[in-house]
Amino acid sequence: MDYDVLVVGGGAAGLSAALVLTRARRKVLVADAGSPRNAPASHMHGFLSRDGLPPAELLSLGRKEVEGYGGEITAGTVTELVPAGSSGFWALLSDGRRVSTRHVLVATGLKDELPDVPGLADRWARDVLHCPYCHGYEVRDQQLGVLGGSPETVRYAQIVRQWAKDVVLFVPAGFLTTLQRSELVARSIGLVEGNVSRILVEDDHLHGIEMEDNRVILRDALFVPPRFVPNNDLLVGLGCDIDETGWAVKDGTGRTAVQGVWIAGNVANPRAQVITAAGEGSAAAIAINAELVGLDIRSAVKAFNMGF
Ligand SMILES: Cc1cc2nc3c(=O)[nH]c(=O)nc-3n(C[C@H](O)[C@H](O)[C@H](O)COP(=O)(O)OP(=O)(O)OC[C@H]3O[C@@H](n4cnc5c(N)ncnc54)[C@H](O)[C@@H]3O)c2cc1C
Repeated sequence: MDYDVLVVGGGAAGLSAALVLTRARRKVLVADAGSPRNAPASHMHGFLSRDGLPPAELLSLGRKEVEGYGGEITAGTVTELVPAGSSGFWALLSDGRRVSTRHVLVATGLKDELPDVPGLADRWARDVLHCPYCHGYEVRDQQLGVLGGSPETVRYAQIVRQWAKDVVLFVPAGFLTTLQRSELVARSIGLVEGNVSRILVEDDHLHGIEMEDNRVILRDALFVPPRFVPNNDLLVGLGCDIDETGWAVKDGTGRTAVQGVWIAGNVANPRAQVITAAGEGSAAAIAINAELVGLDIRSAVKAFNMGF
């Protein structure tokens, strides 16, 4: 086998796993397509001791640490993962290489699919935001909006209210129940009912939200819940269990039902922040090493017995 562990994806989850595994003296290759989810954001928040660091800087520091312990990192996509008998896997890389590995950790993240509102995608990670825990503090006490339309967005508006007194929820007419309406009004959350037609920008800042009936509601920032789509094609191809909502199934250490295949980070957990994804990578690495030690014991005993 070329490697003990192939880590697919070099974001917080994958690099954190690679760090623990290389420090456990495992031979590790990290293959990374280079598009971490938070790349459009200028700063990363909520990561103890690294709050406010540009996201790319965290990963650059992480790559240096992994390489410092002998880990290999290659830029590119893993296009195929197939079992190599009972002992491991073959992986095809986008540069044409084929490598073999005993175990594989898939940490490929997810895609954020944004609502199709003209002007919205251009402001993504600037003043169109998805996560109040990541960026709420930076827009505290400003005029905030929440783009509603799904049942979760009513609760989401209540959460965003934690960061500002002036919050407006945009919802299609007739969407809210009487209870939701009274809960929103009780916390002074404004309601704008109707369909949003576009996002207005002035001097490279969000200016307001224009409705289909031409009303314009001035806002400084708009919170938008994206649809999370896991990058889990490789897991599907390997036959990992996928639940009814489309997410790969794992245990608390990242183990899947397919022997030798592990998962960490956003690819199976849309709620994972950077620090959580890194934590999942670390937990998976410790479990993978323990499993490899178990296999090493078995082959050592077999070799020993054959000596007699
Ligand atoms: C705009 C924005 C801002 C955010 N801000 C914050 C914040 O301030 N604080 C915070 O804690 N969280 C923030 N998040 C969430 C954060 O992005 C995620 O928690 C984190 O990126 C998850 O790490 P991950 O390693 O699971 O996935 P990612 O960071 O997405 O890394 C996955 C990596 O795998 C690679 N990859 C995918 N497929 C393949 C393949 N087949 N072969 C090889 N490589 C592959 C990708 O290119 C990528 O580099 C933000 C998210 C967004 C969208």
